[in-house]
Amino acid sequence: MTTRLLQNNAEDIALAGALLRGGEIVGMPTETVYGLGCDAGNADAVRKVFAAKGRPADNPLIVHIAALADWAPLVREIPPLAEQLAARFWPGPLTVILPRTDRIPAVTAGGLDTVGVRFPAHPVAQAMIRAAGVPVAAPSGNRSGSPSPTTSAHMLADMDGRIPAIVEGGSCLCGVESTVIQLEGADTVRVLRPGFVTPEQLRTVAANVIVDDAVLAQISPDTVVRSPGMKYKHYAPNAAVTLVQGGRAAFLRFMDTHRGAGVYALCFDADVPECEAAGIACVPYGDTDEERAAAFFARLRELDAEGAAHIYVRAPRTDGVGLAVYNRLIRAAGYDIADAGTF
Ligand code: AMP
Ligand code: MG
Repeated sequence: MTTRLLQNNAEDIALAGALLRGGEIVGMPTETVYGLGCDAGNADAVRKVFAAKGRPADNPLIVHIAALADWAPLVREIPPLAEQLAARFWPGPLTVILPRTDRIPAVTAGGLDTVGVRFPAHPVAQAMIRAAGVPVAAPSGNRSGSPSPTTSAHMLADMDGRIPAIVEGGSCLCGVESTVIQLEGADTVRVLRPGFVTPEQLRTVAANVIVDDAVLAQISPDTVVRSPGMKYKHYAPNAAVTLVQGGRAAFLRFMDTHRGAGVYALCFDADVPECEAAGIACVPYGDTDEERAAAFFARLRELDAEGAAHIYVRAPRTDGVGLAVYNRLIRAAGYDIADAGTF
């Protein structure tokens, strides 16, 4: 199978819709990352997505809708807090988990009795879902374990020959996957996966926002977790990755003692002059948490293409969107975290 790159025009969107309706997989750009879209209600199509990704069967897919009214048939009940969150953050990078109806096959839900639903903001994703006429299940469009794709070229690198088509949608603005939340009682939100919608923003709607322990911790594979994706190796490039905590001076001292062939610093933009002055090979990934979220998956892939052996990443903060970046990076690093303060 050759994978076609479709464009954002009426003819190609109609073709993407027909492929989806016909049980095929189509690469879908969203504001978070590119996803592997399929008809969420078609168990055979969903199985193909798991196979194309190499994804463990117990890791559920998020279901995407393009109209608020399409949510109700998928879930048993929409509590007032869920409605308020949707009103504030949809369309956008927030996934809300609720008990599912039979419209969602068990395979889509990874065998759970719940389903995570999201209304994406990306116009191409919305057009594809409308053209399909069905809710579209879509996990991130990478091979399981690899960095998520934030461009069509990155998705093609992982999926060429495995799926019939990808729709071009430009570079993803957020660059990190959606914030995944569960509701607990009438006024509490639990963040299972941090994303562009931050705990601080969720607190403007929900009285209590809990960040699940698994967001910043290492989970052993046999632990029972609320969100199965939290326990798997994730987001990792071929190069070894170490997350380095500390300020600029400490990071530079650390890099000075970790020089070597194929060693790169993935640093903040403002670190570049000092890295260069010290002769440290460096690639910047942004100066704000938002910039770093948008860039770091692409930078990891680019460094792999350069043949990097070891990438030392200057750790972002763990507030705001930084929490989402930190959460991905500790997994990309296989929890190898160094404290530059001790050097
Ligand atoms: P991805 O498809 O790569 O964006 O990953 C989706 C993430 O959402 C994974 O970490 C899943 O475990 C999580 N997720 C999706 N649906 C559910 C659900 N019903 N319950 C708990 N976690 C979910
Ligand atoms: Mg993923």
